[in-house]
Amino acid sequence: MTHPLEPIPIIDSHVHFVHRERMDELLDLLDSVPCTRFNLVCIPNPDATTHNPAALYFKQHHPQRVFISGALDYSVLSDPGRAPDLLAAQVVFLKARGYDGLKMIEGKPQVRKLLPYRLDGPLYAGLWDAVERENFPVVFHVADPDVFWDKGGCPDWARRSGWDYSDGTYPSKEELYAEVDNILERHPDLKIILAHFYFLSLDLDRADRFLDHHPAICFDLAPHTDMYRDFSQDPAAARAFFIRHQDRIIYGSDMDTRALVRGADGRRFMQSIPLLIRSFLERNGEFTLPDGTTYFGLGLPLPVLEKIYATNFERLYGSVPAPLKETL
Ligand SMILES: [Zn+2]
Repeated sequence: MTHPLEPIPIIDSHVHFVHRERMDELLDLLDSVPCTRFNLVCIPNPDATTHNPAALYFKQHHPQRVFISGALDYSVLSDPGRAPDLLAAQVVFLKARGYDGLKMIEGKPQVRKLLPYRLDGPLYAGLWDAVERENFPVVFHVADPDVFWDKGGCPDWARRSGWDYSDGTYPSKEELYAEVDNILERHPDLKIILAHFYFLSLDLDRADRFLDHHPAICFDLAPHTDMYRDFSQDPAAARAFFIRHQDRIIYGSDMDTRALVRGADGRRFMQSIPLLIRSFLERNGEFTLPDGTTYFGLGLPLPVLEKIYATNFERLYGSVPAPLKETL
């Protein structure tokens, strides 16, 4: 299928870069969307290292195009008494170093179990103060698709990734949402992009109430399991939602070099994501992707697309990436 889509600038708010040797390959993929700029979102590894060095490497090579959202360094947990202050200090350090924002995956149930600290609890209290004070945007992954808590319904590929939450040892989606609500009550000025549409694609009424209640919060469009099939169930309702919240929705693909290293299949999968998202936003009515799957497009007007593709992100992150400070 040829790209039927508008030639307008796109910023991808949600890209994972882990493998330095894949920089040019990832750049090619992003150029083909085409993305003018993109935000590398870093996460901590189980061994307490992070994706931050890889993101710095990319930004050093392409400083005009790359925003970076750093991961927190959890090696500070070895000093429990000082850990809250040390996490808060990392916000100041990352910003001074030339990071554009923070990425937190700490609300993903798998990670929330590994780092068993309430998101609204004492470990993070100083961090949220610092994030708000420093006006530092955050891409925040909270919850996961409902089906991951359902023993019978959790897909095998998700189970293999450790995302079957049905055994009762993981926080529930509602517990995670309650923790986020408490944070936002205390810090109404936080600039947070909740990843994957906050996993509310099946409940647009709730998503609507949430965005009304928290006027500084945005959702990104990085797909999860069935997100675009969910939207396609009631295209008129989805379209009304996207028009109503056109200032709060941000393009993101979840492109990931960890998929590229899987080979041709992974690369095809990465290529398919921007086509799905763009077709959904721009095409009018039913459309079929090359793999035969069918969705309903919203046919959004150009001024709305411009917000979702770029200006909403720029409102939070600025229109150009922060310069790196090598000397720190
Ligand atoms: Zn992601």
